[in-house]
Amino acid sequence: MTAFDELVAFDRDTQALAQIAGRLGWDQETMMPRGAADQRGDEFAAIEAVLHARRTDPRVGEWLAKAEPGDEVGAAILRHIRRSYDRTNKVPAKLAAELARITSKSQGVWAEARANNDFAAFAPTFKEVLRLRREEGAALAEGGDIYDALLNDYEPGAKSADLVAMFDAMRPRLVALRQAVLDRPEPKALDRHFDEAVQLKLSTTLATTFGYDLSRGRIDKAVHPFSSGSGNDVRITTRTAAYDPFNCFYSTIHEVGHACYEQNIDQAYLLTPLGNGVSMGVHESQSRIYENQLGRSRAFAGWLYGQMRDAFGDFGISSEDEFYATVNRVSRGYIRTEADELQYNLHVLLRFDLERALIRGELEIDDLEAAWNDRFAADFGYAVDKPSNGVLQDVHWPVGLFGYFPTYSLGNVYAGNLHAALREAIPDLDADLAQGRTARATGWLRDNLQQHGGLYEPRETIVRAIGKEPTEAPLLDYLDAKFSDIYGL
Ligand code: ZN
Repeated sequence: MTAFDELVAFDRDTQALAQIAGRLGWDQETMMPRGAADQRGDEFAAIEAVLHARRTDPRVGEWLAKAEPGDEVGAAILRHIRRSYDRTNKVPAKLAAELARITSKSQGVWAEARANNDFAAFAPTFKEVLRLRREEGAALAEGGDIYDALLNDYEPGAKSADLVAMFDAMRPRLVALRQAVLDRPEPKALDRHFDEAVQLKLSTTLATTFGYDLSRGRIDKAVHPFSSGSGNDVRITTRTAAYDPFNCFYSTIHEVGHACYEQNIDQAYLLTPLGNGVSMGVHESQSRIYENQLGRSRAFAGWLYGQMRDAFGDFGISSEDEFYATVNRVSRGYIRTEADELQYNLHVLLRFDLERALIRGELEIDDLEAAWNDRFAADFGYAVDKPSNGVLQDVHWPVGLFGYFPTYSLGNVYAGNLHAALREAIPDLDADLAQGRTARATGWLRDNLQQHGGLYEPRETIVRAIGKEPTEAPLLDYLDAKFSDIYGL
């Protein structure tokens, strides 16, 4: 065997173990008995230690020094393994284990603090999480920017300076459009009870409508919807709310976007570093284009209206036009995950600014709640009423995910670019969507983007799909056109 073959064979088991660790995480959110939390923390720490040892195994370094890639695919595999090897070697094993343990424990402490609306109860644990992540970031940055080092875990190649420029370009147009929209009468909201079993049934129909392969996936309920796994075992979760079936339907479509990306990666890359979505931003571009540009389009909403009438009977919305406005209703709210397309990126921007200050040491945990509340009031024009609607709402920071939030907005920007290219490639797409057919759209995304997995760098993956450099303009133009149409601006 050549050094390359030995390396890839060794890495294959590491990839398999990482999939198992991911499935433990899935289990924790769906099936695990509550009393198992501490034991699960130990189980996570144990498997993380095994993964850490494999990723830093000196043989990997020796193989990397000798391996000849042979072709483009081999070169990409080496690039990923080298990045992982370098990254893991920069972080002392003791710190990695401490991080795994504290972030697993922190999730439970945060959940209780959130339920009790008590930020102070979470602060001591949160300080530990932040301290350890700063320490890790410093080890990764090797004298460079700590925030960028953390950001690179989720979006290789991204720089916070570029993201600052992206948000600077977005913010004024989003704020102006939101003001114009909020000055207009609000579309009708749903006000009926929707049977939750029927919601789940229609949600499964939506999942398969968007191409989710249930023979290699499954749908369960969880408090927070997510997608997990790669290749031939990609699972999603969804949730139901009796008076808000859109929460269930659009959570499902969103997670199906993530899951289809994983399922549609070239099978030749299975259990190699190329067999996963390439970055969080590119991942989010898939979930958001499924959910918003396709799922909340006028054409598809018209089809969904008919499906909902069949499933629930008359539910108080009298036409496809009215339904389209209801689906895209812009209203006041505190919660990022429930935000409409127009306000979503303003929620992300708030977090991006605060977490950079936290990582730089310009903001401390003891001042975070006040900083959040001040910033929210300034950006949204009304006060946060309780921590669960404010600083305690997201699980990201409690589990140490600093540098993750901006990838959501990057994903939205990428989705805007992909949507423009998709519409150009398939001008009569609405005729399909109006009949609940997504195969040409999802097939275009599979062929031009999803199948490549980790073959190209994240930004290059987008450039290859759209044939040019992405900018924030297509997303902003799309939002302008869509909300001007709905709100008669
Ligand atoms: Zn997502």
